[in-house]
Amino acid sequence: MREKFDVAIIGAGPAGTTAATLLAEKGYRILLVDKATFPRDKTCAGWVNRLAVERFPHLRQNLASLVETPFFGLTFLSSNLGRRALYQENEPVGYLALRSRFDDGLRRLALEAGVEFIEGNGLLKMEEEKGEVRVTLQNGDTYRASVVVGADGAHSRVARLLSLRRCWQKQWRVVCANEDLPSSPQRVMSFYGEKPCIYVIPKFGDLTGYGWVFPKKHHICVGLGGFLKEGQSIKKMYFQLIKALKGSGLLPEESIPQRVSYAIDPVGGVYNQRSLVKGRVVLVGDAAGFVSSLTGEGIYPAMVSAQCAAEVIDSAFRQGTITEKLTEFDLQWAKALGDYLKSPSSQFRKRIGLKFLPLLFKSRLFSRIAARVYLYGKNITLGSG
Ligand SMILES: Cc1cc2nc3c(=O)[nH]c(=O)nc-3n(C[C@H](O)[C@H](O)[C@H](O)COP(=O)(O)OP(=O)(O)OC[C@H]3O[C@@H](n4cnc5c(N)ncnc54)[C@H](O)[C@@H]3O)c2cc1C
Repeated sequence: MREKFDVAIIGAGPAGTTAATLLAEKGYRILLVDKATFPRDKTCAGWVNRLAVERFPHLRQNLASLVETPFFGLTFLSSNLGRRALYQENEPVGYLALRSRFDDGLRRLALEAGVEFIEGNGLLKMEEEKGEVRVTLQNGDTYRASVVVGADGAHSRVARLLSLRRCWQKQWRVVCANEDLPSSPQRVMSFYGEKPCIYVIPKFGDLTGYGWVFPKKHHICVGLGGFLKEGQSIKKMYFQLIKALKGSGLLPEESIPQRVSYAIDPVGGVYNQRSLVKGRVVLVGDAAGFVSSLTGEGIYPAMVSAQCAAEVIDSAFRQGTITEKLTEFDLQWAKALGDYLKSPSSQFRKRIGLKFLPLLFKSRLFSRIAARVYLYGKNITLGSG
């Protein structure tokens, strides 16, 4: 007899572990499955939004073991790295993490909440029948669940098995290069100061995208991502960025790229999905395209989408009308995240746009608003002009 769970969650990144922890805390029997063995890495700059820390008690209470360091502001850099606009606060405006440690910590918290976890064994197939879903893993083991949550990242197998999507189309796919360059806490502090900020280059070279430098504790994260034009190479641009940063004194000379990783970020992809629910299956996180189209940020949206899904699943179980109730997820995520993911990008891109970037370095008010939009997704009233 195959084991029966209330909910099977595929993927143990921030989305999957959040859904797992919240549902286990409500008393449901949860199976969490990941094809990787933990701790596992994920190509990511590791900025954890302060909003996530404020929203999720399990994150806040375990912050020290999950993240490397807080940061206190954001410096915009001009294209040639010659001009700067700094926005600073006295309190941390966000946190920087190493994804191997952050995700492993979230996974441990899920286990403490009572979640059952299988690692190193990915999802192979899913079949819905007689009011449940049969989930078969790569090693042939099969489990039954009343509901499945697809939290298996940008290349979601769940989405493919449901025929919701084969892959992300070009306009929803930002190509990135990223590396955590090893350093020492003393060196990072002497180079970037005791209360470091993150550095953002809104327009590097002719890339339609942006670059970043995130000083962590034992690492300095450098990366860039954008929509590539014909003939552009993200690898080449990454090395140009490293050289330019060193030339401008923004990266220590001894920082040599050794383990650059490349990945795609499904920015704004959620707006390309008609529904994130099919039968008894719900998609969250990158699997659903919950990534800000302004910043490429996905950890906070992944966690909020998972929280929304957990609430909808809970109410579906309590009301006993599972397939009918689950469709409410499409409304609930839009209430929780619609503005955060969409309006800053559409306002910022269409109405402010790249041609106004020089204003960042001329107007303190403008750079302050831009920094707050970047950090907190604040909606700004721009007037009609
Ligand atoms: C270069 C880059 C930089 C970024 N920087 C930031 C940043 O600084 N801040 C931020 O907020 N966001 C950032 N993002 C986005 C962020 O990394 C993602 O949005 C976030 O990881 C999404 O979380 P998730 O849980 O949905 O998916 P993931 O973190 O991708 O987790 C998915 C999990 O599913 C597992 N899985 C996959 N397939 C299967 C399968 N078939 N069976 C079982 N398990 C499976 C994987 O092993 C993985 O553990 C960045 C993205 C990129 C590419």
